[in-house]
Amino acid sequence: QNVDLLEMLEEVVDRFSFQLRQKAITVSVKVEETRKTAMLDRDGIDQVLDNLVSNAIKYTLDGGSIDITATTNGDGQLAIAIKDTGIGIPKKDLPRIFERFYRVDKARSRNMGGTGLGLSIAREIVRAHGGSMTIDSESNVGTVVTVQLPIVPEGSESA
Ligand code: ATP
Ligand code: MG
Repeated sequence: QNVDLLEMLEEVVDRFSFQLRQKAITVSVKVEETRKTAMLDRDGIDQVLDNLVSNAIKYTLDGGSIDITATTNGDGQLAIAIKDTGIGIPKKDLPRIFERFYRVDKARSRNMGGTGLGLSIAREIVRAHGGSMTIDSESNVGTVVTVQLPIVPEGSESA
């Protein structure tokens, strides 16, 4: 579908409004103006975004913040970055973080719920759409996950 990017991101945030309020986490959503819409599989991408925003909330302490930014460039790439001010991921764990069932430090995540599948599923979906996913993080500073997706160049959009 031809998706309005700002609307898509705001709706993701709306789905988490209860948890966000409960943890007093503030969210900013920004779409860089190069391009307002893109042809995307809305259901698939929603699933990816829900996973990433759920992680950002889960691993951010009360009163933290989350910044969601979408940027498009001329040559058919959409980048969506989800940045949090959470507990972060130690550098040594970063290379394994997309593995199924991999979770940082069992003690730390024991009481947090979850299976360690969220990121691997998200990456599967992104790859199935021809995109890629990267993660950068620093312990006790925060995490940024970036999703890169190919989009049809403007002007050549048909049906
Ligand atoms: P699930 O998503 O299946 O409910 P999960 O959140 O533990 O469980 P993933 O989403 O795959 O699993 O994430 C894997 C691990 O990566 C998490 O257990 C956590 O240790 C770490 N992690 C993921 N996102 C973040 C983040 N934004 N900040 C800090 N750590 C993160
Ligand atoms: Mg998760």
